[in-house]
Amino acid sequence: MKEHIHPESLMMSHGYKPELSEGAIKSPIFQTSTFVFKNAEEGKAFFEIQNGKRKKHEGESLGLIYSRMNNPNLEILESRLTLWDGAEDAAVFESGMAAITTVLLEFLKPGDLFAYSIPLYGGTEHFIDSYIQKIGVHTVEFKPSHTKEQIIDIINKSGYADKLSLMFIETPSNPTNTLIDISMCKEIADHFSTKEKQVYLACDNTYMGPLWQHPLKHGADFSLYSATKYIGGHSDLIAGACLGNKALIARVRSLRSQLGCMAGPWTSWLMMRSLETLKIRMEEQARNAKKVAEFLVSHPKVEKIYYLGAIKEGTHEYEIYKKQYSSAGAMISFDVKGGEKEAFRLLNELKLIKLAVSLGSTESLAEHPATMTHAGVSDEHKKEMSISEKLIRLSVGLENAEDIIWDLTQALEKV
Ligand SMILES: *Cc1c(COP(=O)(O)O)cnc(C)c1O
Repeated sequence: MKEHIHPESLMMSHGYKPELSEGAIKSPIFQTSTFVFKNAEEGKAFFEIQNGKRKKHEGESLGLIYSRMNNPNLEILESRLTLWDGAEDAAVFESGMAAITTVLLEFLKPGDLFAYSIPLYGGTEHFIDSYIQKIGVHTVEFKPSHTKEQIIDIINKSGYADKLSLMFIETPSNPTNTLIDISMCKEIADHFSTKEKQVYLACDNTYMGPLWQHPLKHGADFSLYSATKYIGGHSDLIAGACLGNKALIARVRSLRSQLGCMAGPWTSWLMMRSLETLKIRMEEQARNAKKVAEFLVSHPKVEKIYYLGAIKEGTHEYEIYKKQYSSAGAMISFDVKGGEKEAFRLLNELKLIKLAVSLGSTESLAEHPATMTHAGVSDEHKKEMSISEKLIRLSVGLENAEDIIWDLTQALEKV
């Protein structure tokens, strides 16, 4: 085979051996809870490896034991998913929240300090406030606008800087598309790392991955996903993923096996099917989004748009954009002139675009962050982060761009 084959060329076959499944061109769904051992010695050997009692011998692999630990659909999917991010390994979960919470639980313990950027996905912030703090982990927040020196200062002022163990960021942040420099965060993590203790950096890559941003290449230790979004891509499943190096993913996978939050065979199979069209879907969505953004920018009833393609050249944000992203993506937020009344009118008048939360799917979706996805954010933070009553978030889908623009035009007319 050619030395470098593009990920999109491998999504139909990578990690799957037809000869193990009667020659079937596609992987069957391995709808099974357990696997038969050839003999007792084999069962013993598999368990020794699974439980970390000994290292694998040369050429030996961990055989299939029980579907909470491993399953062919899970394994094939994981090997395909690593290709986009150039990751050593991946662990797939039954939801994005399962992936995020498993990483936080594995890499934080009582007394540790956890530093994270705001705004984060509502579910992640809720888990930090309601659980992580309850188990005695100290937390500090920083903002996309903060410089490296300011973040280091915030961590030092917490009084627990020597206990910093994990940093967590979301870039672009939802819903206003503000950017955080991943390699700068890596420098901060390194600044607080010692010989005994490495500070890890996790990045929620749901908004722009796995195609347009590769956090691991900028120094992050984990690239996390709600695979419900672009990876699944059809609004018909809930799933998550965590990518990183072999040693770290082994820890994540071990806790996942104990918690039992791995993706099931059917979810994994659906995602394998989705991955075959990931690139063409995401690229077409981004092309549509560009046209929609151009339309919105010049519309008299639109006050401001938050879109990566609208970042002004010459700014610090533009530098991060050029360094970290290969596309402006397909998420656009915008302020309608007016307030909640005008925003609601627009949402209620949409005919083709669906009024629903979630994103990254084949159909276009619109929602009102202030009262929906970000309803739980404090008024103070909402104000700081421009999550106002006039803000609408749009996930651009695969419809013909002319039709999406027609829908927005007719709805804006009624406002
Ligand atoms: C949806 C989402 C999540 C949570 O994922 P689920 O699959 O719903 O559990 C986490 N982060 C971001 C950025 C999301 O959009």
